[in-house]
Amino acid sequence: MGRLPFIAGNWKMNKTVGEALDLVRQLKASISRVEGVEVAVAPPFTALYAVCGELEGSSIRLAAQNLFWEEKGAFTGEVSPLMLKEVGCHYVILGHSERRQFFGETDETVNRKIKAALGQPLKVIFCIGETLKEREEGKTFSVIERQITGGLKEVGKEKMERIVIAYEPVWAIGTGKTATPQQAEEVHRFIREKLGRLYSREIAEQTRIQYGGSVTPENIKGLMSQDNIDGALVGGASLKADTFAKIVRFREM
Ligand code: PEP
Repeated sequence: MGRLPFIAGNWKMNKTVGEALDLVRQLKASISRVEGVEVAVAPPFTALYAVCGELEGSSIRLAAQNLFWEEKGAFTGEVSPLMLKEVGCHYVILGHSERRQFFGETDETVNRKIKAALGQPLKVIFCIGETLKEREEGKTFSVIERQITGGLKEVGKEKMERIVIAYEPVWAIGTGKTATPQQAEEVHRFIREKLGRLYSREIAEQTRIQYGGSVTPENIKGLMSQDNIDGALVGGASLKADTFAKIVRFREM
């Protein structure tokens, strides 16, 4: 069975509730009839509840951008997996490079978050990727290997169907510099081989691996034509309905 392409929009710290509702209404109108692709949007926490209501009856999935691993308690400013489930989230993005870079997340804390998300009926978009310095020093594969092994520590085989991996080279995020389809494919193939060694060939073949980093309507088709690229995690280009819809309709580009 082939892997269903998966395009997700990470809105980051953008969109008020009103703006989020506008965007989602436009998206519903422009992509509701596209088949053969799963679509998700990740608004900021403050807009999740309202967007969930607007998405009722649509196949667009709701995603959050982060969570904290505890169930409840004295953790000012944090949001639990159960709270995300309650406001209608299907997915949560974890380990994004901005969280690692600006908020001190490590492979260990990302792993705690992944396990907490899987303790609820949530699916995870698990982000990994090397910095420019790491790439230039020839460390891309060792960094990717470390992030996968650390992030998926104690995540059992049976949970892997709820994990999507997003390969996001840090040097390509928000910079307008996309990895070439060949550069991305090389790392995606490595990730799949690593999953095969950690779990099984079957799990490696089933797991979807998204590419993220300056994806646009212009470059999506080339990326999606690669054997091991199963979708995209889109930042900047997901903030406008027309560009995101074009990415979702990558087959027509
Ligand atoms: C992202 O932040 O996940 C991302 C890929 O951003 P952009 O598409 O803007 O590079």
